[in-house]
Amino acid sequence: MLSKKLDNITPSYTIEISTKVNELKNQGIDIVNLSIGEPDFFTPVPAKDRAIEAIYENKTKYDAASGLKELRKAIQYKLMKENNINYELDEIVVSSGAKHSITNTLMALIDPGDEVILPKPFWVSYSEMIKMVGGTPIYIETCKENDFKLTSEELKNAISNKTKLLLINNPSNPTGAIYSEKELLPIVNTCLDNDIYILSDEIYERIRYTDSFKSISSLSEDAKRITVTINGLSKSAAMTGWRLGYSASSKEIAKAISTIQGHLVSHPSTISQWAAYGALTLCQDEMKEMVNVYENRRDRAVSLLSKVDNISFINPQGAFYVFIDISALKDKFDYSDSYSVEFCKRFLEEYRVAIVPGIAFGIDDYVRIVYCADINEVEEGIKRLDKFIQSL
Ligand code: PMP
Ligand code: GLU
Repeated sequence: MLSKKLDNITPSYTIEISTKVNELKNQGIDIVNLSIGEPDFFTPVPAKDRAIEAIYENKTKYDAASGLKELRKAIQYKLMKENNINYELDEIVVSSGAKHSITNTLMALIDPGDEVILPKPFWVSYSEMIKMVGGTPIYIETCKENDFKLTSEELKNAISNKTKLLLINNPSNPTGAIYSEKELLPIVNTCLDNDIYILSDEIYERIRYTDSFKSISSLSEDAKRITVTINGLSKSAAMTGWRLGYSASSKEIAKAISTIQGHLVSHPSTISQWAAYGALTLCQDEMKEMVNVYENRRDRAVSLLSKVDNISFINPQGAFYVFIDISALKDKFDYSDSYSVEFCKRFLEEYRVAIVPGIAFGIDDYVRIVYCADINEVEEGIKRLDKFIQSL
């Protein structure tokens, strides 16, 4: 009865786990929730004020499919000032969350049968989004020793005459790794040599604890020509529920994205767009403060985790996740399908801590914890992880 498109699509692990946690909490069960990548901060007041003003000033009508001009100007300024990239206004499209910007981009670029290269580990929704638009995800194994960052050699080995796009996430969810300019250049050159577009998801760009981040489009005019940059306000301004993301690309791609969006949703809620305008123009200090807090939590989480026996992890340079290698404990578990799912299931049932199995990101020997939760929760979760591992 249902469309064949859904045959190979699985529900989002991250959303499912966090829904389950909320159900358990509603039953009065106390759970330490280190599963979902959602800031524990609230949206800064100036952003909320702009939304309230928009409501009372009746700025609640239909507007341009690509988004409010004022907001696109604020994004244009941000990209110029912070990332050193000059985009025209008609190269920027605002959508209902980065998820929506990514899906629009895939719809604009991918025909059935086209291959999209996806380095492992990948954020949980990419593979399903690619499949939903009829594309074929081509997974690449990357090396732990290189913090799971893709190299141009690995990329070259995966390219075929059907390759259309490389999807890269920088800083990475789930590892927190950040590519340096030196690491990005050979990857970009390989894409240029092979006529491959790049979708660069930079949603965690502001949440970084090193100066080495470079937006791919800023590397050269050629890099900019083939790259669609994705960003948004969910993480940087704690605006997950407002659903506000954006893409910056060539005019041709932006026009296609805007046409698709115009038919499917018209544009994101104007009220959310005014809130995003407020966040970008008035909330720099609040956003910086959040990053300082994340950095302190990162240091604490890393320090606690390094004392836990039988695990290792990628040292996060950005975002708010730690990707933990649990392969040394594998023989302690009975499981039929997925080791990491069994590990997370037992950890939740026995120690009341919710984390995400690595299989959600394509690597079953790992689990992911977040530190965008209160520091006491993060500490308690890691303490219980230590106890769980010792009990095995
Ligand atoms: N990209 C990555 C890597 C993410 O982790 C997320 C998680 N929310 C998104 C995109 C989607 O963000 P949004 O809330 O803006 O849709
Ligand atoms: N991106 C976040 C995560 O990985 C939020 C949940 C989601 O959108 O998948 O946990």
